[in-house]
Amino acid sequence: MPARNPETPSGKISPVGLETSALERELAALGVPERQLRMRSSQIRHWLYVRGARDLAEMTDLPLALREVLGGRLTLERPTVVCEQCSADGTRKWLLQFADGQKVETVFIPEEDRGALCVSSQVGCTLSCRFCHTGTMPLVRNLSAAEILAQILVARDRLGEWPATRPGRRLTNVVLMGMGEPLFNYDNVLAALRVMVDPDGLGFSKRRVTVSTSGVVPKIDQLGRDLPVALAISLHAVRDELRDQLVPLNRKWNIASLLDACRRYPIRRRITFEYVMLRGVNDSDADARELVRLLHDIPAKVNLIPFNPWPGAPFECSSNNRIRAFAAIVEAGGIAAPIRTPRGRDILAACGQLRTEAERRRRTAAAAAA
Ligand code: SF4
Repeated sequence: MPARNPETPSGKISPVGLETSALERELAALGVPERQLRMRSSQIRHWLYVRGARDLAEMTDLPLALREVLGGRLTLERPTVVCEQCSADGTRKWLLQFADGQKVETVFIPEEDRGALCVSSQVGCTLSCRFCHTGTMPLVRNLSAAEILAQILVARDRLGEWPATRPGRRLTNVVLMGMGEPLFNYDNVLAALRVMVDPDGLGFSKRRVTVSTSGVVPKIDQLGRDLPVALAISLHAVRDELRDQLVPLNRKWNIASLLDACRRYPIRRRITFEYVMLRGVNDSDADARELVRLLHDIPAKVNLIPFNPWPGAPFECSSNNRIRAFAAIVEAGGIAAPIRTPRGRDILAACGQLRTEAERRRRTAAAAAA
């Protein structure tokens, strides 16, 4: 089912994330002649995704009269940047607020040769992974395709990276690893991915767009059919009884069914397996050897993530020596196991922390005002 962008309180919709056919239907409904639809829709998409237009008035190659008509139905309004934090290590985090007041986090993580934008797909989350701060928040709602893409548009605004064709851009990769389970918001996520990898859209290569999932097996198969971008799996345990605790979705699709879905996923590139290092929980030598056994026939890379503690978290991070020993066993098994450098620890970078902090401040202010 094609994604639809919801109407704003003013009855307008965002053209961001609309498929070309849907945009042309909107233009036709506004009186644009049939013979002009293709030209006008590509002009509008160019302004949205290459020039980063934030107002229809900027679209100077569209007749003024048409821009006025479009202004009655379309809005290019960006989400509000409620808070921006810049870490000493270059990581930048934004708390974005949408028209209905809901907020999500977006994080830019620059590296030597690339810069990844971590994008959210839901407000809160459908799931409740025990090590994840967002997992303590109930699902409020799914993001629309426009809201998922707006995080990239805002990041480009803040990083000064328009036009999108200019050389030396730092935002080179997009990872759907923020708040929410992307595959439980499938239609909107797919529509957003289509624009991300469309050469006439945001123009990212499929290799540089990653969907991270906790293991929604049927949707992994569907994504493989619809648009096989890069895949990351939130694995975090090698035994079902433990993964049932850490990633409750495992009770529906266990490790064996999840890895079978990975074997079916139609990309030759390596699949990334995320593995958070929890002291005395999932970090033993036996766990490392079992991880190698499970992944021996899958093109894989394992990202070892030192746990980023958040207030009230029921876990501690494994020691550096333990993490290095774990990595050595996995590497000796022929699987790359880079240890992720914790980023932005000075700016509440852990998923969900900034939103919680903002909510706490809002409640305190409201209580003080009462
Ligand atoms: S790890 Fe992902 S899927 Fe699990 S609770 Fe956190 S945001 Fe949701």
